[in-house]
Amino acid sequence: MSTPVRVRFAPSPTGFLHVGGARTALFNWLFARHNQGVFVLRIEDTDKSREREDAVAVIYEGLRWLGVEWDEGGDKGGKFGPYFQSERGAIYEKYLKTLDKKGQVYEDQGAIRFRAPRRPVVVDDIVCGRIEFDRSMEPDMTIRRPDGSWIFHFVNVVDDIEMKISHVIRGEDHLTNTSKHIALYQALEIEPPRFAHIPLILNRDGSKMSKRDEGSSLATYIEQGYAPEAVRNYLCLLGWSPKDNREKLDIAETIQLFDLEKVNRRNASFDLDKCNWLNYQYLAQMPVPRFRELSLPFIEKAGIQVTDEAYLTEVLKLVQEKIKLLKDVPDWIGYFFTEDYDYDPEAVAKTFAGAGVMSRLGKLRETYQSMAEWNAEALENALKTLAKSIPCKTGELIHPARLAVSGRSFGPSLYHMLEVLGRERVLTRLERTIEKFTK
Ligand code: GLU
Repeated sequence: MSTPVRVRFAPSPTGFLHVGGARTALFNWLFARHNQGVFVLRIEDTDKSREREDAVAVIYEGLRWLGVEWDEGGDKGGKFGPYFQSERGAIYEKYLKTLDKKGQVYEDQGAIRFRAPRRPVVVDDIVCGRIEFDRSMEPDMTIRRPDGSWIFHFVNVVDDIEMKISHVIRGEDHLTNTSKHIALYQALEIEPPRFAHIPLILNRDGSKMSKRDEGSSLATYIEQGYAPEAVRNYLCLLGWSPKDNREKLDIAETIQLFDLEKVNRRNASFDLDKCNWLNYQYLAQMPVPRFRELSLPFIEKAGIQVTDEAYLTEVLKLVQEKIKLLKDVPDWIGYFFTEDYDYDPEAVAKTFAGAGVMSRLGKLRETYQSMAEWNAEALENALKTLAKSIPCKTGELIHPARLAVSGRSFGPSLYHMLEVLGRERVLTRLERTIEKFTK
């Protein structure tokens, strides 16, 4: 029987979740789900000077937003906890004793150092292939500092052993560390897990993507209102792709197709435009209830008062295809929910300036007041008939009408917007506008 798949994401809580880290977590999660395995979240918080709680919350929030849920770890618990390195001191002591008994460590000015074996180490990596490291010049590495704190390489290996990790999937920046890690496994006489080092994410100009680069922080996507499924889809394609090179891929299918052997060896180039394009596809095509669910936090934050839930759904349907980022939703829908909307001064200067505009709007109001049916088609027909009889161009009614009922010169299709606003609001708004702008 093959060993059960157990993988982990092991971030250090820095207060920042980089898209590279999120992508590493995602690849681990995809691999676990594809193999009915377990995905562990381990917090590598040996550096106590950092504000742990907030920093850990950033990781939890980011992963959950992406829909990358862990099976063991952090706030979830599990058989192999604790899942915070800061709480695992006793385990590390035990392993240190083992190494000591084997004569593999010694003390040097208060630090504990591991005797480098100085023989070549082979990493047989699932993504990068077979790589031989000549370790003949390798210095003895410190595994514990004089102040008692532990060095990453040692605790990382101990935790992977204790948590029965079968595959270590991490960024290629750790590839050289792996030779050190394998030396530790050998000293402990424990079979190492399989390794898969996934390509780095680079900016379009080829530089390494750092914290300051646009699009590097997962928090930005959350704040700006990307669809999580779109960002997840985009991150899946950073270093991996399905055979047929399709781009919009739902998550169930991605899990089914995901294969570590197919991860690209070459570095992945980050393309925010492509991510934005995918995001737009997702937002425009998702079912209305999902669009509504994702929009709600932004609507609430903007203080828009929604009293009629069905009305909100109709309004959202109208604007859904216009939205590029969910943070823009309040601006697109605000005037549907208040009578106190502002009139865009530029649009007013342009659209309300001509002679006879208000009198035409007055006629439109009368026409609409007497309508038996209130739907987009009837509203359109009535406006066109009125334009003929005035006579004027349809645009000479359409543009002032839009500005009158919404305060702006652009928005969803006018007739659908009038239908959703409803007779009462439309008539009131036309009247108020005529009063306000008639000189
Ligand atoms: N804490 C390490 C990091 O954030 C973990 C590396 C690993 O996955 O082994 O880079």
